[in-house]
Amino acid sequence: MSVKTIMDDMEYGPAPESDAQAREWLAKHSDGFGHFIDGNFVRSEGAETFSSRNPANGETLAQLEQANAATVNTAVNAARNAQVGWIKRSPHERAKFLYALARLVQKHSRLFAVLETLDNGKPIRESRDIDIPLVVRHFYHHAGWAQLASSELEDYEPVGVVGQVIPWNFPLLMLAWKIAPALAAGNTVVLKPAEYTSLTALLFAEICQDAGLPPGVVNIITGDGRTGALLTEHPKIQKVAFTGSTEVGRKIRETTAGSGKKLTLELGGKSPFIVFDDADLDAAVEGLVDAIWFNQGEVCCAGSRLLVQETIAEKLLEKVRARMDKLRVGDPLDKAIDIGAVADPVQLQQIRERVSQGVEEGAEIYQPDCLADTHEQRCFYPPTLMLNVESSFKVAQEEIFGPVLVSMTFRTPAEAVSLANNTRYGLAASIWSENINLALDLAPKLKAGVVWINCTNQFDAACGFGGVRESGFGREGGRDGMLEYMKPRYEAKLGAPDPEATPPPAAPSQDDSPDIDRTPKFYIGGKQARPDSGYSRDVFSPAGKLIGQVGEGNRKDIRNAVEAAAKAEAWSKTASHSRAQIMYYIAENLGARRREFTDRLIEQTGMARRTASREVDAATSRLFSYGAWADKYDGATHTTPMRGIAMSVHEPRGVMGLVCPNEFPLLGFISLVAPAIAMGNRVIAVPSEAHPLSATDLYQVFDTSDLPGGVVNIVCGTHRELGMVLADHYNVDALWYRGSPAGCEAVERASAANLKSTWVNNGLRYDLLDPEQGEGRDYLRQATEVKTIWAPYGE
Ligand code: NDP
Repeated sequence: MSVKTIMDDMEYGPAPESDAQAREWLAKHSDGFGHFIDGNFVRSEGAETFSSRNPANGETLAQLEQANAATVNTAVNAARNAQVGWIKRSPHERAKFLYALARLVQKHSRLFAVLETLDNGKPIRESRDIDIPLVVRHFYHHAGWAQLASSELEDYEPVGVVGQVIPWNFPLLMLAWKIAPALAAGNTVVLKPAEYTSLTALLFAEICQDAGLPPGVVNIITGDGRTGALLTEHPKIQKVAFTGSTEVGRKIRETTAGSGKKLTLELGGKSPFIVFDDADLDAAVEGLVDAIWFNQGEVCCAGSRLLVQETIAEKLLEKVRARMDKLRVGDPLDKAIDIGAVADPVQLQQIRERVSQGVEEGAEIYQPDCLADTHEQRCFYPPTLMLNVESSFKVAQEEIFGPVLVSMTFRTPAEAVSLANNTRYGLAASIWSENINLALDLAPKLKAGVVWINCTNQFDAACGFGGVRESGFGREGGRDGMLEYMKPRYEAKLGAPDPEATPPPAAPSQDDSPDIDRTPKFYIGGKQARPDSGYSRDVFSPAGKLIGQVGEGNRKDIRNAVEAAAKAEAWSKTASHSRAQIMYYIAENLGARRREFTDRLIEQTGMARRTASREVDAATSRLFSYGAWADKYDGATHTTPMRGIAMSVHEPRGVMGLVCPNEFPLLGFISLVAPAIAMGNRVIAVPSEAHPLSATDLYQVFDTSDLPGGVVNIVCGTHRELGMVLADHYNVDALWYRGSPAGCEAVERASAANLKSTWVNNGLRYDLLDPEQGEGRDYLRQATEVKTIWAPYGE
């Protein structure tokens, strides 16, 4: 037989990975697992149990316990007690524990990989070469953060106890993404793995024992969504970190509303994979294999929407089909398998239904005949390509979470961007073109938290990962990820909630005041606009004297303001130097009218002249601060194992709603508006409900400061009511709300529908004269999204 014949005909033989050690470990636990609480595995008498199965063959691997309310409570209390000691340890000691965890996972890496593959169905090649090495890297990287947090993040402290709920697609990797930064920041955790895939988390619990981690620092409880709900709703946790479906993310946003818990949500996606006609097509095809057929397509950031330039569509699709024909689906423990088993029969059924729905909608389907070696009953699904898809089809809009790619074409870069952004999600995007200028031009235009240029599915512990829109909010990884597990130290100094923070609304009166000059209108699109309601509210001095009237804003006014803000998009692209100049100019013009603004504060609040002029001076200085920051709040480039560049860019959130505090009528307004616009956002600001005239006086200042129309829009009215409209509005990308605890709860709950990011004060009072509480990086962070852009070096 010639070498050529061998090369041409060579069949794959079986290349099984041994599962002996994993089976030994499972056998040791054949009587079932308990929960890992306070350093020990605990069982409850008569507890409900469920099985964990191997999706590749249906075999039961282990029996697990369902944690009930009492168990969740015990775990949270253990974490609470442990936090006291954990935070007292030196950064170096905490770092050593994280380092030990990294080392121990590394030492047992093959056992972890095999167990993951048995439990989840993913190919051993992936669990061995991707999942577990990334887990190890995550713990090493965060051992470094534990060491450095007190100096590098000195203005922040841990939040306390964190409740973490993770999905089944990357069980141990998601555990690492959650536990490593939480511990490095000085928190303790209670983590619930997914019901289908809890085993590597339980093995990790044993590793925590081996590492001598103090009891209660890590607690792992098993169970289904009921346990997840009990954990996320527990009153004694200070933060919830969740990865999973948008539907459950939304529920968690609702149930945590008003609780004061910090929240990060890493949810679904329908990420575009954009191929231009000048791309290296063979590289793009390999990229596509990694984008959608990696991990059976059960990847939140899977490149599940292929957008290909029309001129090369046929050529590319031919290559894709040829490559699909070569993909091998089968026993996940076989080292030469590309696609393993879908995690559970329920998920398999869901994939089947979604694909059938696509076919009913009119899509054409291509599937290679590659399931011959897999049993019909088991959880295998072939790589699938759907053609003739329109962007309105459900298969083009909904996450399928399986090895299913939908394909569409575009003609121009602008059309590619518009198709790419035509989804409610915004997790990731991949661009393939040899023209780096084109790729870098597109990257900021894509609504996504991560953009890969000529690569895909790159992750690293040093880089932020997370989404925008209905893909959730918050970042995991690197400095940004650390900050999600910390809170500014100044928060401890904030004043207690003030039940009187929101004054009762003044009785509306028909807008027929003869003294029309005393009724400032709204400021929308750079012009004064009458309130839609035709109602005005009286503004009184502390002595009860009528000092003016302002319009009573409603839903329609907010909608008009959002439209104006959306049109002012050019502001987000204006050079930061120019934005800085305008901020300084506003400050200069405000400073020039110092006396007038001081008098207005005195008239509205009765404050002493000294206090009032201090507030005007502080507002002027704050504008200067953000003029200074406008071109200095930089992103970063990251040092990752990839040979290439990974950079975090700070992008404006877009259109922001700002409901300003009642206290500090001028400074409160400026403290929210200035950071938001300095970072390139356009805003709809609702001024102090009780003292709105300082804000409405600013129209003239803005008009004379070259601020483009629509960048700042002002609508007066009831905080709660207008806040709810802003929270509800799909085109408002972020909302800051300073008001009563009930108002904060209401807007957080309302934001669940579109999952915008919110920043509320829970009724607490910020001393805005204190620069630590009133300005700086925390505001800038809340005014920006982090986009991570990856581009490899080389030919
Ligand atoms: P879920 O969002 O339901 O599950 C994620 C985690 O949340 C699991 O640990 C789950 O527990 C838990 N959970 C479920 N309900 C609640 C609740 N009310 N409160 C708190 N925690 C809860 O995803 P599924 O596993 O059910 O998958 C459904 C679909 O979601 C998939 O088909 C896929 O489309 C998408 N998905 C997206 C992921 C992503 O990363 N973007 C990851 C996983 C799924 P349990 O596992 O026990 O149900």
